[in-house]
Amino acid sequence: MRNVVIIGSGCAGLTAAIYAGRASLNPLVVRGHEAGGQLTLTTLVENYPGFPKGVQGPELIELMQKQAEEFGAEFLEGDVTRADLSRRPFTIEMGKETIETQTLIVATGASAKLLGLESERKLLGHGVSTCATCDGYFYRGKEVVVVGGGDTAAEDALFLTRYAKQVNVVHRRHELRASKIMQKRMLENKTINPIWNTVVLDVLDPAKGDVTGVRLKNVQTGEESVKACDGLFVAIGHSPNTGLFKGQLDMNEVGYLITQNGSQTNVPGVFAAGDCRDHVYRQAVTAAGTGCMAAIDAERFLAESSHGK
Ligand code: NAP
Repeated sequence: MRNVVIIGSGCAGLTAAIYAGRASLNPLVVRGHEAGGQLTLTTLVENYPGFPKGVQGPELIELMQKQAEEFGAEFLEGDVTRADLSRRPFTIEMGKETIETQTLIVATGASAKLLGLESERKLLGHGVSTCATCDGYFYRGKEVVVVGGGDTAAEDALFLTRYAKQVNVVHRRHELRASKIMQKRMLENKTINPIWNTVVLDVLDPAKGDVTGVRLKNVQTGEESVKACDGLFVAIGHSPNTGLFKGQLDMNEVGYLITQNGSQTNVPGVFAAGDCRDHVYRQAVTAAGTGCMAAIDAERFLAESSHGK
């Protein structure tokens, strides 16, 4: 029987593990299939406080894991396959293994949707990015392509105009999905060049290990072309990794967990942290902040439950 199980080993899960470990709760962290979370998909992180020269995303995650281990956190490789939150202790299944826990911290994150191209996967972190805020700075004076037509794409494109000399927005339709105000801002910006009715067929050039351009196709005319660029930002949305909790934890219409009074979910003893509950800020530091909140909330919950016994 565990005091605290944390599902997810990104910034939120690891911060929760540091706090829960330091509170002598011996947390167990289930690392998940995208172990380390989104920070492991990026390179230099320049906006995490305390690193004036920046820190590599994977290194930051490694340091956090070491810090959690220092305080007695244990780590399990693998994914949770089923969770029964209908009664306490909660039951977590990982294949044939079953774990019982008094409290659960869900820090399963959100995964950026990708186009699904082989070349995109190969160049992720080498010119292909899913995070303009993280990587935009590297494109000073360069030309980039953003894919997508929603608020994320509009926001990313606008953010990238601070650095890039030209931002091309490739959208598969002629109409943006983004909110009116974001559309207006985007379309009025002279640095942004919308490319309508177009999809990305391929990212060039995996053989060079860097992005040199994208192969495009106009879906109306069928015409193919190559657009030279230095970076590709895929901004077609994120999906929270919360499918496991459907029907058990309250979530909004797209699956983000709903929390109240800090990090509490609708099930007493289950807390949520990081991007699985946040579609607004989605920053490493905010994920860490909510991870801290969840661990403190779990600790208080355990203390109150033992008083009540
Ligand atoms: P979204 O609204 O779902 O938009 C995704 C966009 O990507 C759509 O334009 C979609 O095209 C396109 N797309 C999806 N799959 C694609 C594919 N395989 N290939 C090419 N294009 C593809 O996602 P989001 O922009 O991340 O926004 C999610 C939510 O967060 C929204 O509610 C949004 O308002 C909110 N948000 C708000 C802000 C803000 O207010 N500043 C910022 C970011 C996000 P179609 O249009 O053809 O479907």
